[in-house]
Amino acid sequence: MTRKLFVYLFAANLLVTALQAQEKVPVIGLSATYETSQSSVPNTYIISVRKAGGIPVILPATDDLKAIARMVESIDGLILTGGEDVDPLRWYGEEPLPAMESIVPIRDFFDIHLARAAVERGIPVLGICRGEQILNVAFGGTLYQDIPSQVRSATPVKHRQNAPREYGTHSITVNRGTTLFDILKDILEKDNTYRVNSYHHQAVKDVAPGFIVSAVARDGIIEAIEMKGNPGVLGVQFHPEGPVSQGDNTLLPLFRHLVKAAR
Ligand code: MN
Repeated sequence: MTRKLFVYLFAANLLVTALQAQEKVPVIGLSATYETSQSSVPNTYIISVRKAGGIPVILPATDDLKAIARMVESIDGLILTGGEDVDPLRWYGEEPLPAMESIVPIRDFFDIHLARAAVERGIPVLGICRGEQILNVAFGGTLYQDIPSQVRSATPVKHRQNAPREYGTHSITVNRGTTLFDILKDILEKDNTYRVNSYHHQAVKDVAPGFIVSAVARDGIIEAIEMKGNPGVLGVQFHPEGPVSQGDNTLLPLFRHLVKAAR
């Protein structure tokens, strides 16, 4: 081989490597619902990940810890999706209140171990609604099992809206100095509030050690948490995938943050 050809091949190889690095689009795992006939993820989440520049993959629930570890090895970021109540007795030691709704034991096990494995591996996590609650419980926090029967506030808020999914009905106040504030600062009102949609009757009660509150509703209900010193790990009680999948990109930065952290 002539020296010239060698140099040429070397340069070409460098170029290909650089292009490959540039093209490596992060894979974002989405925790699936678990039903008798199917495991699935709403397209609202899938569309939101695509719009943010990630490749969505659906992660079906399993109680096989080795399988969970392999799933985490194969993704660059994780979204814990919305869904059912978290079993209070098994995961945070409280007897179920009468207002507890349906629970899915295998999904609880899967989501909680998936969250722990992802954080341990340094993979960014966005928990949405139940996903935020899962993050909290996975790291030692507790939940209100049922806001209407457990929380008395002088300034009550309706957390189960009857309105289109993409439409925000109550406001949240985002705390300064948090990662969430950084992500949303351009869209917040002057008093650091923002209108979000709300489809939950459970909420974070005792915040997990190592986590902080990043947003609250007017009744004091926690609407977002994040891991201290780990800006890749966030949870929100509202559903950003609702408006984002409907063409309102105001909350797209939440998904962009995840995809960026996953690179
Ligand atoms: Mn709410």
